[in-house]
Amino acid sequence: MSGLDQTVLYIGGFGRSGSTLVERILGQLPGFCSAGEIVFLWQRGLIDGQLCGCGTPVPECDFWTRVGKTAFGGWDQIDAHEMLALQKRIDRNRYIPSMVAPRLRPQAEADFERYTEVLSRLYRAIGEVAGARVVIDASKHASTAFLLRKVPNVDLKVVHLVRDSRGVAYSWTKEVRKPEVTGDDAFMPVYSPSSSGRQWVAYNLLFDALGVLDRTMLLRYEALLENPRQGLERILAHAGEPVTDESFAFLGSDAEGGSVNLGVDHTVAGNPMRFHQGRLDLRLDQAWTSKLPERDRKVVTAITWPLQLRYGYSHVRKAQRNSHV
Ligand SMILES: [Zn+2]
Repeated sequence: MSGLDQTVLYIGGFGRSGSTLVERILGQLPGFCSAGEIVFLWQRGLIDGQLCGCGTPVPECDFWTRVGKTAFGGWDQIDAHEMLALQKRIDRNRYIPSMVAPRLRPQAEADFERYTEVLSRLYRAIGEVAGARVVIDASKHASTAFLLRKVPNVDLKVVHLVRDSRGVAYSWTKEVRKPEVTGDDAFMPVYSPSSSGRQWVAYNLLFDALGVLDRTMLLRYEALLENPRQGLERILAHAGEPVTDESFAFLGSDAEGGSVNLGVDHTVAGNPMRFHQGRLDLRLDQAWTSKLPERDRKVVTAITWPLQLRYGYSHVRKAQRNSHV
């Protein structure tokens, strides 16, 4: 790694795996800066003018204004609509094979070079403006992780975030209003347990494939909430960052359980937790254990059990044993 490289810690995985909370926790580490889901910067941040985590629309936020100046001489010097079109031509799961082997799609070479050059300037500017050694990108998408491997002067560290597929499936059955959007169609899509189970497998397999090419770090959401300090120590080691006396100053340690003290983060997109400031109790949302019907639980387990086992969700083994009794 050269002195010019910007370390980018990428949080990848399937939606509703707790990435916003994880990103906020990591953003409090000294030398880290959480920038949210950067994949949505062009559309939601710059074109739609949605809110930054600081509560100001992204185009008016002082932090992002400085990022635009540092990277491109100002956001008016770069066409967000053109970038969005470029992103759509490049950053897709179906193009992952050609990101690994560019000869499979030679016609995309010019677009690829242009877009990775833009991303290189963007991530380095975020690090420079924030004064951060590590920029956190919680975009989650697999294709974006494969793309970032090829961005010049970016030292990519991928955290593969997983959450129990049954908790994820329950979350996708609920109607959730999109943050910062008003109007009738402001709801996130709802998926059946079989659909979210299949997607959970597909997304996680893509990150397992990435783990074959590069060293990635598997992080179970539940384990991080159970023992934040241990999880954070692993993440610091993965990012090549030291543990110091100040590293965990934002972690509370009361008898009832863990908490964190959150500052202001200039994040693009993510769930409403990204606006939270001050103390936040770390409690695992286990609503699915009482609210996800038994038959749905079985459907999800039938689809996801091999990977659940691989990721250390040992209930699968117990359930299998019981079914043979
Ligand atoms: Zn902001």
